[in-house]
Amino acid sequence: MDGKALAERVRKEVAGEVASLGRPVGLATVLVGDDPASGVYVRSKQKACREVGIEPFDHNLSSETGQDDLLALVEQLNGDEAVTGILVQLPLPKQIDPQAILDAIDPAKDVDGFHVVNAGRLFTGGKSLVPCTPLGCLLLLKDRLGDLAGKRAIVLGRSNIVGKPMAQLLLNESCTVTIAHSKSRDLAGECRRADIVVAAVGRPEMVRGDWIQPGATVIDVGINRVDAGGGKTKLVGDVAYAEALPHAGGITPVPGGVGPMTIACLLANTVTAACRQRGVDLPA
Ligand code: NAP
Repeated sequence: MDGKALAERVRKEVAGEVASLGRPVGLATVLVGDDPASGVYVRSKQKACREVGIEPFDHNLSSETGQDDLLALVEQLNGDEAVTGILVQLPLPKQIDPQAILDAIDPAKDVDGFHVVNAGRLFTGGKSLVPCTPLGCLLLLKDRLGDLAGKRAIVLGRSNIVGKPMAQLLLNESCTVTIAHSKSRDLAGECRRADIVVAAVGRPEMVRGDWIQPGATVIDVGINRVDAGGGKTKLVGDVAYAEALPHAGGITPVPGGVGPMTIACLLANTVTAACRQRGVDLPA
């Protein structure tokens, strides 16, 4: 399953929606400290914004920044009409409580979908901003399978940012959902019953080929850097891709599967937020 190609389609749609809104759309990115990986993520999100006509507002703060200073910046961005969406890159330095920061973001501008109000709306069926990675996984599944109603789905992992919202999205599509985690028993047997397997555990190639029911659709969220020999490293997912490929009806690769969809869904969420803030009907 080609995440890059679907992400490209989503980005094109977003670019069209931004143009048709006729008013600027802006995403504020907040990076605290100098973690190299976080810097790469933020820059790639800013580049993706520019490509679809969303203006990125870049806020780089020192690793010494205190919680009150970061809260003050979030408050300022909440009140800034040019800022449609706010993204605070995690992880934050240890002197800052990430939950306090996420709670301070205006839910209407919470394009990461991490605010408790958006999580609550997702669970109770209201209009929410949905975390980008599970939203991307859902779009990949619907693109391949169409209607998901009645399918047996298993989500491996129960984090607040991937596993739980993924399970809720699948439940909202009327799947029969199992959520598995580190205390679950017989993961292989649970997976073998599933039409849809979403793996989000952060364990390199944990899901083996013979865990996959013939024809099942497999979404691999994991991004794990492992030794590739000769002093090199490579990225692998949570699924043993080569083993699972002959069993699966469809499977996302790592890289090139869920990753590109995560960024595309951040752009889509920013446009969704813009439309709601302006009382404009969302494009279908
Ligand atoms: P996380 O917060 O560490 O959560 C991992 C989950 O996996 C936990 O619920 C944990 O169970 C479960 N788990 C760990 N070991 C397990 C095992 N042996 N058997 C069954 N369940 C196990 O991770 P996350 O933030 O959800 O991310 C998961 C993976 O997705 C990571 O590789 C991350 O890099 C990747 N990711 C990718 C993207 C993307 O854009 N592609 C975005 C976000 C995350 P307990 O709750 O019992 O501890």
